[in-house]
Amino acid sequence: MTILDGLATSKQIKHEIAFSVTEMVSSGSRPPHLAAVLVGDDGASLTYVTSKVKSCEEVGFRSTLIRRNSTITENELLALIANLNNDAELDGYIIQLPLPSHINEKNVLLAVDPRKDVDGFHPENVGRMVLGLPCYLPATPGGILELLKRYDVQTEGKHCVVIGRSHIVGLPMSILLQRNANPGNCTVTITHSKTKGLEEICRNADIIIAALGRPEFLKAEMVKEGAIVIDVGITRIPDDTKKSGFRLAGDVDFTAVAPKCSFITPVPGGVGPMTIVTLLSNTLQARVLHG
Ligand code: NAD
Repeated sequence: MTILDGLATSKQIKHEIAFSVTEMVSSGSRPPHLAAVLVGDDGASLTYVTSKVKSCEEVGFRSTLIRRNSTITENELLALIANLNNDAELDGYIIQLPLPSHINEKNVLLAVDPRKDVDGFHPENVGRMVLGLPCYLPATPGGILELLKRYDVQTEGKHCVVIGRSHIVGLPMSILLQRNANPGNCTVTITHSKTKGLEEICRNADIIIAALGRPEFLKAEMVKEGAIVIDVGITRIPDDTKKSGFRLAGDVDFTAVAPKCSFITPVPGGVGPMTIVTLLSNTLQARVLHG
């Protein structure tokens, strides 16, 4: 069994990005610039955004954290987005989700300039991804592909079961793994909360992508010997023994499942760091293409 070490791999990719930035700056260009918009004060969202900003600093990017109160109106947020779209010194930005319920996320998403949409959520980028055209890959599925590629995990001809059909993880993951590419060329089954017989479907899988957000949902009896298991889930579980007051749990019962696997990602240290590094790669790409 091989652990797919997302933390070590992400560090390697950060070195590569930092090298490109150094070359860019020494040739007289400005470094890539990423902004993150955080609305409200949700603890988990603040943690994610802070770690994205910190990662920017590590690779030599400029980064800007824009915080707004949860009482911001949709029109005010759309005006902020228009400013970001017009900022010639900004290569890409993300709007940290979820947004407060009075704001329509779809309106916000549609307002983002696709050239600055480094999260890869805008319909133009999604459409380009589906057609296999150059685009910003959504960060989590893009990070998983990169991890598979760097460990030379063979996916061609394999049956892949994706658990979860969200627009940011499950759905794009299923599209990317069925493409005629490497990694790719899988036969994909996408499953969701209304799927019947999920245990049996999983037992037939060569690759399982667990992205449903239910701690330790995937049990050993749902996994066949030699399977490749990618755990996307991150749930905060209250834990008084931790300084933070919580521990992070994935969607996979790691202790029981890992011995059956050929490859598996841990939580933390698997998909999470790869997600962040893909955001950095997308921002570098934005700088090179449109800066
Ligand atoms: P989501 O809530 O938007 O989607 C969950 C999906 O799981 C839905 O499609 C739902 O139909 C499906 N589902 C729910 N219960 C199910 C069940 N019993 N059987 C089968 N399918 C079921 O979640 P999301 O945004 O896709 O995130 C999923 C998990 O991944 C969360 O824990 C989230 O925190 C985590 N996540 C991690 C990263 C990362 O970088 N590691 C990035 C994004 C999301």
